[in-house]
Amino acid sequence: MAIYLDNAATTKPSEAAIAAMVHCMREVYGNPSSLHRMGLDAQLLMDDARKTIATALGCESGCILFTSGATESSNLALRGAAAAYGKRRPHIVTSAVEHASVHSTMDALEAQGFRITRVLPDANGEFDARAFIDAVTEDTCLVSMMLTENETGRILPVQRAFRTIKKRFPDVITHCDAVQAFMKLPVKVNDLNADLVSISAHKIHGPKGVGALYQRKGVRLLPLVTGGKQEKALRPGTEAMPLIAGFGAAVQEMQSTIAPRYAHAVRMRDYLLEKLAQNPEISINSSPEGTPYIINLSIQGIRSEIMLHFLESKGICVSSGSACSKGAKSHVLSAYGISDDRTDSALRISFSEQTTEEELDALTAAIAQGQCQLIHK
Ligand code: PLP
Repeated sequence: MAIYLDNAATTKPSEAAIAAMVHCMREVYGNPSSLHRMGLDAQLLMDDARKTIATALGCESGCILFTSGATESSNLALRGAAAAYGKRRPHIVTSAVEHASVHSTMDALEAQGFRITRVLPDANGEFDARAFIDAVTEDTCLVSMMLTENETGRILPVQRAFRTIKKRFPDVITHCDAVQAFMKLPVKVNDLNADLVSISAHKIHGPKGVGALYQRKGVRLLPLVTGGKQEKALRPGTEAMPLIAGFGAAVQEMQSTIAPRYAHAVRMRDYLLEKLAQNPEISINSSPEGTPYIINLSIQGIRSEIMLHFLESKGICVSSGSACSKGAKSHVLSAYGISDDRTDSALRISFSEQTTEEELDALTAAIAQGQCQLIHK
């Protein structure tokens, strides 16, 4: 049995999600656009999932668009809003630590002629809402900030920044990548003052390949692809019904347990940090103010991949930085001013409600063993 400590990369699908997917594939396989009874059954099942997700985000069902995941949600949000609003206001504000799905999309928009301001953290490695607010000008069309950053787990001041930006510049569209926060913190679109919010199912014990975009009523987007009228013609193509059913079931199961799961993650985080504090060659790259679900650490003198594979040989799965960067140097750790040496040896440990103290004991013992064996090689 693997000790799975890579929950920020993806999570194990819940039994409820699996059951909902199987039920959908076996029994409700009509096309939701079909006009007969089986089409209607599929439509009703999709409506249920949409309603569950909308309730979790504190919005109306009509504001939820299903996509293939948060990468697509953010592409639709950013490219879609830039195309709809950016002609006369070609400036965009974002943070320097966004996930590749936003970071690379900003690069692409820059190549199209948009001016992008990437806000850096302060000298303490924390973000100040004021830095985002001050970056907005009369020609800004869009501000995009993630809520929980996925490599070190820092929480960005989205609520405070968006509130003031919306007050001063009501025409600016606000987008939030809430992937690592959804179902871990209460994420309510009105509290966030967000016009667009990206979420993903596979980070919350749902299936891979499905996500959603919250689109506030009245906010215009241009679609990335053209086709039928599904998802208000903003995301045409027959909906991924089994995945949508699994997504709805995962949210349904998780939304009543945000607080106890959070408390468990705090216990696990504190337990692990206490044990790691006894190891003088380990430094912590996460902030004490960040999410309790993610700890990023560096082990002096041992490259991330070397330790990752050593831990894997002991049946322990962790990540080197972020899974999406696949070994590329992390732009996130660099933005925090973390040295190249520390970045090269960074590992990300991420918890779920299933994580136990025994698993963390096994992790720290394996790290210590790895230090003895690997450092003198
Ligand atoms: N945003 C963040 C913060 C993430 O951690 C991830 C996944 O790693 C994504 C976006 C991309 O999500 P998806 O895999 O659903 O495209």
